[in-house]
Amino acid sequence: MTIAHHPSDETLLRLAAGTLGAGPALVVAVHLEGCAACRERLAGLEAVGGAILHEMPPAPLSADLFGRTMERLEGMPPTPVQDRVPKRQPALGIDLPRAMRRCDVGPWRWLGPGFKWSKVGIAGDPEAKVMLLKGRAGLHLPAHGHTGLEFMQVLSGSLSDERGQYFPGDLDEADDQVDHRPVVGQDSDCVCLAALEGDTRLHGWLGRLLRPIVGF
Ligand SMILES: [Zn+2]
Repeated sequence: MTIAHHPSDETLLRLAAGTLGAGPALVVAVHLEGCAACRERLAGLEAVGGAILHEMPPAPLSADLFGRTMERLEGMPPTPVQDRVPKRQPALGIDLPRAMRRCDVGPWRWLGPGFKWSKVGIAGDPEAKVMLLKGRAGLHLPAHGHTGLEFMQVLSGSLSDERGQYFPGDLDEADDQVDHRPVVGQDSDCVCLAALEGDTRLHGWLGRLLRPIVGF
């Protein structure tokens, strides 16, 4: 399926510069895994950014930026060989992306009728606000806004809101201008990887639901 929703250039630049938080960086890394167009875009932006910063001719496109992002997500300094084995992850009913293989993923937990979540821990940033969300087919999620950026990558099923439809491989960035009410597609359950940036809080009923349970 063609990917219709991609991270913004600003987000890719921040990833290249290392200023994107570990949570959003994980969501973008999952997107990059499945999106050749964004991998190419990122390599191009990095080359241009490097040329501007150093006033030098563009360096050869870095094939390893994705690899370095993965390293960063796995925690610096480089982890010892014995710690580099994939984490044992619970059976969630989906194949997790490669970028998540060393994340600490919890089991599904009840969040509301037809609505589950699983905490995703990142070794490099224990404060990262990242989770998997699973909604049953046809579920209407509560309307909500955010104080900052919310990054969401669809892993299976589909979602739609006032701005469009999101299928596996799509990444949605919702900023503080977006108040949305996502609805899960009728055909199947939907699983997404979601991250909130920094101090981002969710407004409204969803925020009040999540905060005491999820902690953010
Ligand atoms: Zn993309």
